[in-house]
Amino acid sequence: ETGQIHIFSIASGHLYERLLRIMMLSAVRATPHHRCKFWLIGNFLSPTFRAQLPQFARRVGFDFELVFYAWPPWLRFQHDKQRLIWAYKILFLDVLFPPNLKRVIFIDSDQVVRGDLGELWQMPLKSGAVYGFVPFCEDRPEMDEYRFWKRGFWAKHLRDRPYHISALFVVDLQRFREQQAGDILRALYQRLSADPNSLANLDQDLPNYASMPLNDELVTQQAPEPMVPLHSLPSEWLWCESWCSEDSKPRAKTIDLCNNPNTRESKLESARRIIPQWDDLDAEATAAATLTHDRDWEQFRAQRGMTST
Ligand code: UDP
Ligand code: CA
Repeated sequence: ETGQIHIFSIASGHLYERLLRIMMLSAVRATPHHRCKFWLIGNFLSPTFRAQLPQFARRVGFDFELVFYAWPPWLRFQHDKQRLIWAYKILFLDVLFPPNLKRVIFIDSDQVVRGDLGELWQMPLKSGAVYGFVPFCEDRPEMDEYRFWKRGFWAKHLRDRPYHISALFVVDLQRFREQQAGDILRALYQRLSADPNSLANLDQDLPNYASMPLNDELVTQQAPEPMVPLHSLPSEWLWCESWCSEDSKPRAKTIDLCNNPNTRESKLESARRIIPQWDDLDAEATAAATLTHDRDWEQFRAQRGMTST
């Protein structure tokens, strides 16, 4: 074992809590040389989920800590639950974790991890970058009409640089704090969210917007600095069926059940269709979380041919 890996996630509602357990189980299984510690936003978790968490963690073998953060009164509030969750993903990275935490990996709860997170934990980010995101896949031509970042506002703003997906990201918390990225992101959020048509994908639009220099600096400076420098992670770290080709799927280190704007299929249906091991993971996560007695849990494992720990 070579130390702990810190993972941050968020969930609200029965479905996303079920998915979150599967994400945690898959992450622990895929990461054999490190112990995982999950930092979960406690604000939105149900009492049942919280009550089951200690035994789930003990049986799967990870550490956890709930973090609670009250929305600052001076920051424009989000009344839609989904948008509120998205805001918590990105706006408070500088204040959610203890100051001695140097790095954290955010993983969406609707994700299944297949690659060793140790690799992502050690991956250097380019000089000055405060966080790393994976660029959106471009290799599923039937989705070309939905690639909103290829046209209009985003094409103009990004100037041929990629638009990144926010389902997984690595944060260098030290640099994030040093560069006051939290203040910059919150100020941008406050300004952009004044327009209700802005930040349609809040958690994703914000870091992508901030990955470029301010527009007026473009004219006044020789080499304008991005507002918040962003590193592009290797594409295999995020595969999602809506945007990525079947050819790249075998190399996928995580699979996100991202919404398909074309079909709008439910997450459970896509999970079973896209991830062959999903039903097994679901059964095991449910058993680990809900079985009251350890002997029932041991029996469940024995029936499935799992060796005892
Ligand atoms: N989320 C949640 N409850 C919701 C909506 C979103 O917990 O009702 C969280 C969850 O962690 C999820 C993340 O926000 O993984 C991003 O939303 P989602 O995965 O639904 O976006 P998509 O992948 O479909 O674009
Ligand atoms: Ca997702």
